[in-house]
Amino acid sequence: MTARVVIVGAGHGAGQVVATLKQKQFDGDIVLLGDEPWLPYQRPPLSKKYLAGELPVERLLFKPASFYESPNITLKLGTRAEAIDAQQHVVVADGEHIGYDKLVIATGSRVRQLDIPGADLGGVHYLRDIADVDRIRTEIANASKVAIIGAGYIGLEVAAVFRQLGLDVTVLEMAERVMSRVVSPHVSAFFEREHKAHGVALRLAAGIGGFEGEDGRVTGVSTSRGDMIAADIVIIGIGIQPNSELAARAGLETDNGIVVDNHCRTSDPDIFAVGDCTSHPSQVYGRQIRLESVHNALEQAKVAASNICGEDLSYDEVPWFWSDQYDIKLQIAGLSEGYDEIVIRGEPRERSFSCLYLDEGRLLAVDAINAPRDFMQSKALIAARARLDASKLSDTEIPLKDLV
Ligand code: FAD
Repeated sequence: MTARVVIVGAGHGAGQVVATLKQKQFDGDIVLLGDEPWLPYQRPPLSKKYLAGELPVERLLFKPASFYESPNITLKLGTRAEAIDAQQHVVVADGEHIGYDKLVIATGSRVRQLDIPGADLGGVHYLRDIADVDRIRTEIANASKVAIIGAGYIGLEVAAVFRQLGLDVTVLEMAERVMSRVVSPHVSAFFEREHKAHGVALRLAAGIGGFEGEDGRVTGVSTSRGDMIAADIVIIGIGIQPNSELAARAGLETDNGIVVDNHCRTSDPDIFAVGDCTSHPSQVYGRQIRLESVHNALEQAKVAASNICGEDLSYDEVPWFWSDQYDIKLQIAGLSEGYDEIVIRGEPRERSFSCLYLDEGRLLAVDAINAPRDFMQSKALIAARARLDASKLSDTEIPLKDLV
């Protein structure tokens, strides 16, 4: 019998673990332990509407405070788990030893840091949590020039918001095109055109030498080519890394994240892990993958919590992601790595099209740009792994669902 479930990390995945345990009428104790002072909240708006000042902080919450008001739920916020003793079934936090029958690790990920001269100057920011955005918002009130390091999702979303707020924006990207890790050159070229049209100065293939400053505050970014870009504020968005050290120290298997099986179980049968911090087997792609997405955190959380309640669920979803930049919604289904053919469906100049990635005729992934129907319908095609006729895929008259 599971008398107590402890959840470490109180983010998106953790919130869903509590929600599913409640839904399954789990009647043991639930202890939710997170190092941020907030109840579980949604991060996607942080680089979108919350940064733009269009969303109050309460609207970020995954569930209202009343949701957690129950005699069997204990919240320990602002509390960092320091160690897990897997043998004793104990989590150590704030000097307290908290016993568990089942443990869920949902520690998410943290930003990759830039270790270059001037990185500690005032005005140089990362963007991962509410506190980061609140600091950035206070500072942009007095700023006019922003430099963004990294043209991934976060960097480009921030660029779009800052342009809407009327700031001068320069984006510096080390690679030769934007979002190069996740989208094809066609899609990169589309977003590069959009950002330029909105007045963003895009510097591609640009290495960073360091940050220049005066009186402890950043005044600019020096590039490896030796030129200097003036900036009152700098936002760094160069990727994340999984928070898997706590699990590794507890003796759990880690490899680019906490290794879980398709039941979201770690190498210890009483410890589950969900969300950004995990590396899981994907049957669709036939390999171990680590995802950084809300959908993954939510679905893994449902599977872990259901299995804690005695079910036998497996996790094997087609991954999906989204990004909002200006009035453009980019929706990505699947993972494009390993493609040998690209099909463009629709017309990029009309700002609505899809880029389909195939491997030996099988659909691997789709980037849908203002094309929600293609996005929705492509998931079934990706899961089916059927061979498809590329000429049919490019015909916008044929709905993708008819090709399954
Ligand atoms: P998190 O939500 O990060 O929660 C983990 C929590 O655990 C954090 O609060 C962390 O501080 C805490 N923690 C870590 N270690 C400990 C410890 N030892 N003790 C206690 N607590 C600990 N995804 C999308 O799909 N679409 C988007 O548009 C999108 N936009 C994003 C925009 C931004 C700015 C960011 C930062 C992320 C975005 N994401 C997006 C990613 C998405 O938010 C994450 O994939 C999701 O939050 C993962 O949930 P999680 O529960 O694994 O981790």
